[in-house]
Amino acid sequence: MVVVMKPDFTPDQLKAAIEAMEAGGVRVMVSKGSETTILGAEGNASGVDQERIVMLPGVDRVMRVTEPFKKSNRKYHPDDSVIALGDGVAIGGNKLCVIAGPCSVETPEQIVGVAKAVKAAGASALRGGAFKPRTSPYSFQGMGLDGIRLLQEARAVTGLPIVTEIMSTEHLDIFEASVDVIQVGARNMQNFDLLKRLGKTTKPILLKRGLSSTIEEWLMSAEYIMAGGNHQVILCERGIRTFETYTRNTLDLSAVLAVKKLSHLPVVVDPSHACGMAWMVERMALAAVAAGADGLIIEVHNDPQNALCDGPQSITPEQFSALMPKLSAIAGCVGRSV
Ligand code: PEP
Ligand code: MN
Repeated sequence: MVVVMKPDFTPDQLKAAIEAMEAGGVRVMVSKGSETTILGAEGNASGVDQERIVMLPGVDRVMRVTEPFKKSNRKYHPDDSVIALGDGVAIGGNKLCVIAGPCSVETPEQIVGVAKAVKAAGASALRGGAFKPRTSPYSFQGMGLDGIRLLQEARAVTGLPIVTEIMSTEHLDIFEASVDVIQVGARNMQNFDLLKRLGKTTKPILLKRGLSSTIEEWLMSAEYIMAGGNHQVILCERGIRTFETYTRNTLDLSAVLAVKKLSHLPVVVDPSHACGMAWMVERMALAAVAAGADGLIIEVHNDPQNALCDGPQSITPEQFSALMPKLSAIAGCVGRSV
């Protein structure tokens, strides 16, 4: 952090600015130029209250020189993080991780049937929502705890680790005891109380990018979880809101490259929520692998026409099976495998 003093600052104002910086736990280097005096913070400046310093008399502006995310930052952890999801399944290594399944758990036949089909096609994990964040309170809200039990049944049959979304801290103990990966949905990316509590759990967290979040805000949300002690964070790019209305969201594939450069955390892409249309999913999934994603999360439904949630963007198990060898081919071009 660098603090630039106003040209007419007084010695007392300089002293106050230095003291305020030191109170945040840094050492201060003063550089007096012919026109400008600047104060450089030495050490970790995350404890320095930037907003308080910028309001001090005699201070002109405050500039950040390092990123505010530390634990997720690649600078301090150059190697890719590899996160285990379950027996023999990991994400972040050479092998891509493909998570597939319906938007929502609906019936035992549906979830077990889809689980078997995606497993046979080569998926590494099963997704399925039990608690659904719906825009309308009149839409299907998910099966709740019964949905979690059905996911466990599907895991028992297929061996696939299960990924499902948490909406409330109230369910943390149940999630901790029963699921393999806890998903934080786009709408909860900045639910800081939830993130803090997830920092104290032992499960990997799949953190979706917020609807209109910048890459830095997304990484700061990861930082909340990591600051609590849980370093198992998987980032998920699921499209962001732009002026475009043709697609449900705009898939920001450049974010995959940006985040891989800035952070050591694995990144998966969700082409289903990004596009909102089943016919786009295959190509966007392939593009995501080409862009360097560590995995995918794809909505697969046995009967998209009658799905209780997100039918239009769900591909069928047959389409999923046809996609897998193509993913493998693209993965080979970028030095990865499926
Ligand atoms: C989902 O995965 O079904 C979901 C609700 O995703 P998002 O939070 O990305 O909208
Ligand atoms: Mn969905």
